[in-house]
Amino acid sequence: MASVELNNVTKVYDKKVRAVCNASLNIEDKEFVVLVGPSGCGKSTLLRMVAGLEEITQGEISIDGRIVNDIPPKDRDIAMVFQNYALYPHMTVYDNMAFGLKLRKFPKAEIKKRVGEAAKILHIQDYLERKPKALSGGQRQRVAVGRAIVRDPKVFLFDEPLSNLDAKLRVQMRIEINRLYNKLQTTMIYVTHDQVEAMTMGSKIVVLNEGYIQQVDTPLNLYNNPQNKFVAAFIGSPSMNFFNGRLNGSDTLIFQSEEFNVDLSPQISKKLQEFSDRDIILGVRPEDIVDAKNAQFKNKSKPQKITVDVVEPIGNEIFIYFGKRDLSYCMRIPSDRIYKVGEKVDVVLNMDKIYFFDSKTEERIY
Ligand code: ADP
Repeated sequence: MASVELNNVTKVYDKKVRAVCNASLNIEDKEFVVLVGPSGCGKSTLLRMVAGLEEITQGEISIDGRIVNDIPPKDRDIAMVFQNYALYPHMTVYDNMAFGLKLRKFPKAEIKKRVGEAAKILHIQDYLERKPKALSGGQRQRVAVGRAIVRDPKVFLFDEPLSNLDAKLRVQMRIEINRLYNKLQTTMIYVTHDQVEAMTMGSKIVVLNEGYIQQVDTPLNLYNNPQNKFVAAFIGSPSMNFFNGRLNGSDTLIFQSEEFNVDLSPQISKKLQEFSDRDIILGVRPEDIVDAKNAQFKNKSKPQKITVDVVEPIGNEIFIYFGKRDLSYCMRIPSDRIYKVGEKVDVVLNMDKIYFFDSKTEERIY
């Protein structure tokens, strides 16, 4: 068990690709932290630097208070689970799990005990004599996790371990890894590009974009209090809607865009005075735009007319898309009636759940 600390860590590949820029992060002992962001944002590089598989260009990484920049991976007391499992095809499941311990010259009886315990936790006791090719994707992933468990490391690192599994198995393994964390109570760092996986697994989530940490927060805070447009758009599915418009008026402001005109309350107007007569972005999540006939919101906007473009019934809810083809917006409502394409619907916004972003910096300003 250990804490992990990153202090202004930067990674530049080949003197030109800045994969990670000035990342600072504190991971407490026994914390489950998820690094999430789109492909190429630098999350694997960050994890690999913690593992010791990539050199650190600038900054410091400490594990349990000890700077590990120059310490080789094998001496860092960490275990990593990879996306492609990295199992030895010619070895049995037992030997795959035992391999690292044999290398470290553990006594046979101890190896047997540890492999047995890990196999039990992961429900793979019946496959110990099989070769990896005789296992399903999910079972292989369990063996890869088992190989990490037997090492009893201070820190577990997971690099997109579920990406190669089908959707159903992914959900199942997600729950199993959560269970595993509850059982082992060891520091875990988990990398994924999937925001749903991130939201359901970590107690602390680190959102990355283009090498920069955007926000470090709990899942709920990321959803309710995104610090900028990137985080607001990345977390939540379907994504938050963004309307480009302008704030007009003096004391009480009106947000005007091609789609919506929204009167702002005196309280919001006061906060946004300096943005009056300027371009601004209004953000609203799909569940906060509803049919005016059914609106239960305490503070709602005046009704706005939309034309239904696409209807996606998903069972208990309907996603309705409106707006121009290349600038589509989404509302998410209970499936209480059928909506037709081309139909005009009066909708209202939940005024307690609207966000504003600076058009230039994309930082959240309200
Ligand atoms: P992610 O895991 O978020 O998909 P990576 O950490 O793999 O992102 O990559 C971050 C950036 O660094 C990308 O632009 C990628 O092309 C670049 N990169 C990653 N590995 C190397 C490498 N070995 N050499 C050069 N550039 C690399």
